[in-house]
Amino acid sequence: MTLQQRYETVASSVARACEACGRDAREVRIIGVSKTVGLDAVEQAVAAGIHDFGENRPQELVRKHDAFPGERWHFIGNIQSRQLALVVGRACLIHSLYEESHARKIDRLAADRGIVQDVLIEVNDGEESKQGIAPADLASLLRVCATLPHIRVRGLMTMALRGNIESARRTFAELRMLRDTMGATPDIAAASNIDLRELSMGMSDDYPAAIPEGATMVRVGRAIFSDDYAS
Ligand SMILES: *Cc1c(COP(=O)(O)O)cnc(C)c1O
Repeated sequence: MTLQQRYETVASSVARACEACGRDAREVRIIGVSKTVGLDAVEQAVAAGIHDFGENRPQELVRKHDAFPGERWHFIGNIQSRQLALVVGRACLIHSLYEESHARKIDRLAADRGIVQDVLIEVNDGEESKQGIAPADLASLLRVCATLPHIRVRGLMTMALRGNIESARRTFAELRMLRDTMGATPDIAAASNIDLRELSMGMSDDYPAAIPEGATMVRVGRAIFSDDYAS
């Protein structure tokens, strides 16, 4: 299959999953995670109709953003404080914010550039906490964000453990419930720079399961960019 055919396969399974749960497929943005490929593959992807790309390393985000500045570049990786300056302003959305010190630094960098940086808060599933904030700590991070006028919190992001679709489904359902709970918390709901409409969840192995749970962004790498990916 060509990249175009793989993308069309992903887009049609997104459409099918939406139809099965009564959602409009236009509510779900497919982010092509291009972290393992070069500029030539990005060029093919743009020709295939992909305009949102995800990168997990700042230098690579800079390189690709600067080669394709008209596309939307999402930062989805672990944040190193000293590299935040590369990301702020180039990323249309930072999906992976979970530390208060980084929130403060993003706010300062965005203020210096005269912009408001859109972010998502990355939440972990509480158990094997790798990246992300524990659900119990989310409200206090959001309250800090509410005081930082140069960031705007657009929603939540999570990564499910690979290889177990039932546990992924639970992780996605929990993120949605957490979003609903936060959105119903009066002081958080009242913050003018917090609007938790986006749920970034679902990757190559599990994105169809994220859609009935309310995903608005799926981050798909291998299923689009790898020619030996078998779904
Ligand atoms: C690599 C990566 C993806 C894409 O993973 P695939 O399994 O290749 O679809 C999505 N989200 C994050 C945060 C990633 O690092």
